[in-house]
Amino acid sequence: MRKQIAAANWKMNLSLAEAESLTKEIIKSEISVSSDQLVLLAVPFPYLEKVQILTAGNPAFAVAAQNCAATKNGAYTGEVSAQMLMGMSIPYVLIGHSERREYFHEDHNILTSKVDLALESNLNIIFCCGEPLFIREAGNQNSYVEAQLKESLFHLSEPAMKNVIIAYEPIWAIGTGKTASSEQAQEIHAHIRHVISKQYGETVAQSISILYGGSVKASNAAEIFSKPDVDGGLVGGASLVATEFTGIINSLKR
Ligand code: PEP
Repeated sequence: MRKQIAAANWKMNLSLAEAESLTKEIIKSEISVSSDQLVLLAVPFPYLEKVQILTAGNPAFAVAAQNCAATKNGAYTGEVSAQMLMGMSIPYVLIGHSERREYFHEDHNILTSKVDLALESNLNIIFCCGEPLFIREAGNQNSYVEAQLKESLFHLSEPAMKNVIIAYEPIWAIGTGKTASSEQAQEIHAHIRHVISKQYGETVAQSISILYGGSVKASNAAEIFSKPDVDGGLVGGASLVATEFTGIINSLKR
């Protein structure tokens, strides 16, 4: 049975003190997380260790990095390698977020290298995909997202693919307050599962969690997550507010 996941993406926000108090507030809140659910906190690199310590011993929580380098090691000032994350026992890494694709020009060659290095280091990947507005308006979102998956993931072996979580995040819905309707989310999530099934078979496709991201809030999460192929969410803005994020956690399907 695939996991239902509430993943927070803090991006480049919060002071260390704020990060600490947000984590503590979430942990002590009234949340119920069953064994087939997971709360992921994708936090800035300097906070990984602190949040890891705060969540240690709580199997409902895991920490994720927001990025890793596209090269193994060497003279790449400012970069953080997948191997370094593994050395810190960080279990998850986000790859392919639209902000990385847009602002840091991460194309599919770069993303493929990151995917390969992360998996080589035994990290689990949350691979982000999603279309810009003009693609959605032209009705070409399914083929656009399918190409993103094929370009950066479909060279993987079946066992490697099982370490991947997909986050479908339409760019027009990220940080805009505009959310895809639950029907729009279900339609493209079903398509994503279908293309994974064509490549890897139905058993693998059914085992992979596909998260929705784009202006998820406590007030709309339950409706979006209720759809059969939506296995939770990747949450930006609302994950910075404890009451919002815990509401989202409590909206996961059971
Ligand atoms: C994100 O950046 O992954 C995201 C989904 O942001 P927001 O929830 O703020 O739209």
